[in-house]
Amino acid sequence: LIYSQNYSELTRSQLIDIMEQTLSKRRFKHILRVEKTALKLAERYEADYEKVSIAALAHDYAKEKPDEEMRDLIISENLDLDMLQYGSNIWHGPLGAVLMKNEYNIEDDEILEAIRYHTVGSPRMSKVAQIIYVADFIEPNRSFKGVEDARELAETDIKSAVAYISRHTISSLVKRNTRIYPKSIETYNAWAVKNK
Ligand code: GDP
Ligand code: FE
Ligand code: FE
Ligand code: FE
Repeated sequence: LIYSQNYSELTRSQLIDIMEQTLSKRRFKHILRVEKTALKLAERYEADYEKVSIAALAHDYAKEKPDEEMRDLIISENLDLDMLQYGSNIWHGPLGAVLMKNEYNIEDDEILEAIRYHTVGSPRMSKVAQIIYVADFIEPNRSFKGVEDARELAETDIKSAVAYISRHTISSLVKRNTRIYPKSIETYNAWAVKNK
């Protein structure tokens, strides 16, 4: 896959090198698996390969930044201050989008949205964002209970896979007595609730 559409000033191999230098080995291998998984979904659902590749490789860019640096950025970048009540699991998506834009001039809204919402989803997600949300959950190393069901749904109907993952996320957060970020509930209400 050669980037030819200028969504990024980087080549794919430069982007991979940046991620390898920034992330732990474990996390670096994860983003490569997410890219592979996401590109298969892009083929299946006819999404833009380049956008999907960039978003997949960059989605966890901010994941391993120190909490203090993340807090400072949430304030200086005027992000939702309510996020500060949650943890870095909630911060790294929105911050990854901001940092890829600031540091590497990625401007494409579908790419940035896919990075921003990959953890909590959003009531409205582009096909690229749906693919990253699903690929992050089903990549081959994931072993959550239910991941096989999500993999099967992803092969036939990406939207039902998004719904399944949103429901699974909310339900496992509840089981673990973990604080739920309101956007996760908005995603659940938009994607996973039966219409009355
Ligand atoms: P990863 O970065 O590849 O590990 O995956 P994600 O970014 O998708 O998720 C990171 C973690 O955030 C997972 O353990 C999710 O269960 C968790 N998470 C997702 N939604 C919420 C939420 O609303 N609140 C909290 N506290 N955690 C969440
Ligand atoms: Fe993540
Ligand atoms: Fe995820
Ligand atoms: Fe991830």
